[in-house]
Amino acid sequence: MSFFSTHKTLGILGGGQLGKMLLYTTRKWDIKTHVLDPSDDAPCKLACDYFEVGDFKDFQTVYDFGKKVDVLTFEIEHVNLDALKQLEKEGINVYPSASTLETIQNKSTQKDFYVGHKIPTAKHQNFENIDQLKNAIEKKALSFPFVWKSALLGYDGNGVSVVKNHEKLAQLPKVACLAEELVPFTHELAVIICRNPSGEVIAYPTVEMEFHPEANQVEYVLCPSRLDKTITEKAKNIALQVSESFEHVGLLAVELFLTPKGDILVNEVAPRPHNSGHVTIETSYTDQFEQHIRAILDLPLGNAENKVSGVMVNLVGAEKHNGAVYYQHMNTILEMSGVTPHIYGKKETRPFRKMGHVTIINKDLETARKIAEDVKKTIQVIS
Ligand code: ADP
Repeated sequence: MSFFSTHKTLGILGGGQLGKMLLYTTRKWDIKTHVLDPSDDAPCKLACDYFEVGDFKDFQTVYDFGKKVDVLTFEIEHVNLDALKQLEKEGINVYPSASTLETIQNKSTQKDFYVGHKIPTAKHQNFENIDQLKNAIEKKALSFPFVWKSALLGYDGNGVSVVKNHEKLAQLPKVACLAEELVPFTHELAVIICRNPSGEVIAYPTVEMEFHPEANQVEYVLCPSRLDKTITEKAKNIALQVSESFEHVGLLAVELFLTPKGDILVNEVAPRPHNSGHVTIETSYTDQFEQHIRAILDLPLGNAENKVSGVMVNLVGAEKHNGAVYYQHMNTILEMSGVTPHIYGKKETRPFRKMGHVTIINKDLETARKIAEDVKKTIQVIS
């Protein structure tokens, strides 16, 4: 099935920045695309062939949208699963698969999957509701501190809380959840793996992620990680094991913790392009977005090695700024060496909203990291 300059269509559920960056490749290769998003001014709107406003959590909307395409993918995990299952039954190629997404959508089943496949991960206990969790504390089956996670709809740290005492416990919502051992990690790493339906598989270099302490969002991504090769290889091999266990098709971003003892534990995965892979647009022979398109269309995968090292800085809305966005000091960062900003096209800024990112490339990673700090201090996303 050829998608190059034909009537064959790729459908994407979700029209945000990840979808927009997938569309750079479909434009480059003249591949026809349909995009579904609830927002009428979603970043994808300008670059797809057909844009539909609709709720990707609604069965009928997703089903009807999926029936009009040949291959269906998603740029957000929280899409209607039953519709994906039905579409698969009716012969639509859904990649990543509905069953993989089902396991990943719920953090409890995702963690159980790792345990079942002997993939190293922090110890956890699942609870149907908060009363069950409180019971476990009373019975001393669970003790402080632990990391509480909402089983469903966790996204960018909103459904995660470190619980050290009864006061914090009292603030937790009633929802189904899990309690995880608090990992005293020294580093957070990520490895992006890509597989196509023929079973060809590639791994991107292991990256290091630095988080914003308040917003719990990735602030800097360093590619490749500065850590010892034994560690980065170990991370890569665990990520490959995860992708293999899911028989995954498309991108799978594996987020990992490195412990002080040198153990590597899987935190969670994302079955889609990932923030830790944005840097590949400038650093890699084949960026993560092109790679995903290659994989889901069962094309040969591209070289995932770095051409140059790089650092990515997320551009998030400044605190206390709400409203029409203005990127302050853009010209100053453009004067810096190896700096490429990406602006997602969201018209309104809000505190910590992901509005864009900046990649800094340099032969020397430490130099790139220093420039990244200057970029971060200089550019402001304000209203
Ligand atoms: P989300 O899906 O919201 O991104 P994560 O499960 O990735 O949630 O958790 C967000 C952040 O919380 C992680 O990046 C890490 O900094 C911290 N975290 C998550 N789980 C643990 C843990 N078991 N121990 C210590 N810190 C954790």
